[in-house]
Amino acid sequence: MAGHLVAGNWKMHGTRGWSLKLLAQICLHLDGLARRVELLVLPPYTALAAAHQWLEENGAPVALGAQNLHWAPEGAFTGEISGPMLRDAGCTYVLVGHSERRAGFGEAGVLLERKLRAALEHGLTPILCIGENLAVREAGGTNALLDSHLQESLFQLSPDEGARVVLAYEPVWAIGTGRNATPAQAEEAHQHIRAQLSSRWGAVIAGGMRILYGGSVNAGNAAELLAQHGVNGVLVGGASLRAEDYVAIARAAADSRAAGSSGT
Ligand code: PEP
Repeated sequence: MAGHLVAGNWKMHGTRGWSLKLLAQICLHLDGLARRVELLVLPPYTALAAAHQWLEENGAPVALGAQNLHWAPEGAFTGEISGPMLRDAGCTYVLVGHSERRAGFGEAGVLLERKLRAALEHGLTPILCIGENLAVREAGGTNALLDSHLQESLFQLSPDEGARVVLAYEPVWAIGTGRNATPAQAEEAHQHIRAQLSSRWGAVIAGGMRILYGGSVNAGNAAELLAQHGVNGVLVGGASLRAEDYVAIARAAADSRAAGSSGT
């Protein structure tokens, strides 16, 4: 597995001008970090093409992703964006099933399976987000919820397809709340997810799949979260909107990898 993946989900923030400024600030401070960690930003749709052009022109070592896609390649789906369109805009990654889409737009089940298939078919690496809300955690249902999120979408794929998916464990109660999972909670969930992958597809595939942690990651807590066994990177929302914070998180990821403190 390559180094940690540090993904910045910009959500619905940023004009094109603001986005290019943020990219420029990030790249100014990377200082060789991209040799030790994989960097990814996920701007809103409207900034993707401009961001891609800027990254190309500046030879910047940052990958580009989108926050959602439609499962069809084209058609009468007003307001939607397809996999081929995202490829055309320069994307190589796409989020699938972010909790804000599950909660606000009713995304679940077969829809997410279709989105995973569409992403893979069009050459995009999907990052499938799974995670429990606070009521589920407090009722002791975290593992069962993770199992059902895996079962309804990821486990509908073949092992070969599944192996190309990145997972993000994102406890909903930690997203945008400033209350991150403790390192122990993150590690426990990651171990559970990895065990499910292993029992379904075997240890080799499970060991090669990346599982990111997401939920109020910031410059202060990233190192500790990234040091947990089985944490292969982070999905960062709010803190990724500030160049210095995103770069500090990327540095923590690079150092954690260098220390060999995390793995499958
Ligand atoms: C996210 O958008 O996936 C996320 C984890 O947001 P935040 O870091 O702001 O909690």
